[in-house]
Amino acid sequence: MKKKIAILGSTGSIGRASLNIFRKDLKKFKIILLSANSNYSLISKQIKIYKPKYFLINDSETFKKIKKNHKRSKVKFYNKFSDFNLKNLKFDITISAIVGIAGLEPTVKFTNISKKILLANKETIICGWHILKKICKKNKTSVVSIDSEHFSINELTKDYKDEDIEKIYITGSGGPFLRKPIKKFKNIKVRDAINHPNWQMGKKISVDSSTMMNKVLEVIEAFKLFPFEKKKYEIVIHPQSLIHAIVFFKNGQTKLLYHETDMKIPIANAIYENKVDIKNLLRKKSSFLKNFDYLKFEPVDKKKFPIVTLLSKKIYSNSGPIVLNASNEVLVDEFLKKRIAFTSIYPCIKRVFRDKDFKKYAIKRSPNIYEIYKIDRWARKKTLDIIKR
Ligand code: NAD
Ligand code: MG
Repeated sequence: MKKKIAILGSTGSIGRASLNIFRKDLKKFKIILLSANSNYSLISKQIKIYKPKYFLINDSETFKKIKKNHKRSKVKFYNKFSDFNLKNLKFDITISAIVGIAGLEPTVKFTNISKKILLANKETIICGWHILKKICKKNKTSVVSIDSEHFSINELTKDYKDEDIEKIYITGSGGPFLRKPIKKFKNIKVRDAINHPNWQMGKKISVDSSTMMNKVLEVIEAFKLFPFEKKKYEIVIHPQSLIHAIVFFKNGQTKLLYHETDMKIPIANAIYENKVDIKNLLRKKSSFLKNFDYLKFEPVDKKKFPIVTLLSKKIYSNSGPIVLNASNEVLVDEFLKKRIAFTSIYPCIKRVFRDKDFKKYAIKRSPNIYEIYKIDRWARKKTLDIIKR
């Protein structure tokens, strides 16, 4: 029997990379469900190539247009996740690759009906991991983060306990502005911020990489996923993006995980449980020996990237990650729409956390999904109010 596959966010960078992997092995896998937002031409293309049974299209205009122009297609189209009846459906693998908190509810729903879930959508992990974890335990669903740093940390630490570990470094390239003088930051344009030196990614995560918010989210993500103390995590700059995590053990050994800058490596290893011949999937060959000479590491310049200083008690617990994420999503969106300056992102987030109403929303236990959305809405509104002021 072929393995049944669902991809949430199929038109994105992770969605496309995943489809490219499955496409090479259609004897083993059947694409049953795809979901996307508004990329009409790519949705049309994916309908023709993969002939999924279901396609969920979030943007209403795109949904109507697709439905109208694919009348003869056997694919069943749905607009909202809530319109789609999940009863009696079961997937072998679901890839969760929607960007932002928009991925939370679909990911929770699909975790209930999947044997294995591969999580790229880090915003869902940082806001709702406690919910996903419970479902996975109840249903014996296996869950793997395919964020490259977390996939690597998992590989390096799976046979160890907290007491064996001294330190875990999460590496970050430093993004496009690593060498840009601080005084030029106020003139940063959208096109500069989304031009990542090593990775081809969606716009939101590219901006997060340029501010280093991506690493802040990733430290929280690691803290949620793994049973290690938060003080053990540190961010280190590694401009080449070839080492994805470094673990120092108490026994004096240090392990690091190297792989080329291609997300197909963590995704394929997660799909095939590390038993995959990667050269069949990648265009470029491994250039380990050539690269080895110039692997560099350096501390984060906190003046240039003040966002990393947000990693504090307030931000790790309960409502903190939800507020941080929501505020950042709004600010990145405003920056992409050219309505705020790059340098406004950090001070605005700081002001949201200092707001007198923050305490009302800073609940002291793990929030349920309705509470997550309530906190998210407050932080979004507060952020927009601050921008307008
Ligand atoms: P992307 O912008 O390229 O793709 C996002 C996908 O989500 C698209 O298919 C889009 O149609 C869909 N989408 C957007 N808004 C939606 C909505 N409201 N409802 C339903 N679908 C919606 O993003 P990406 O770079 O592929 O990243 C996806 C996720 O994976 C993010 O959470 C990101 O942080 C994470 N991630 C990405 C990479 C990478 O290399 N791209 C690496 C690690 C983690
Ligand atoms: Mg990452």
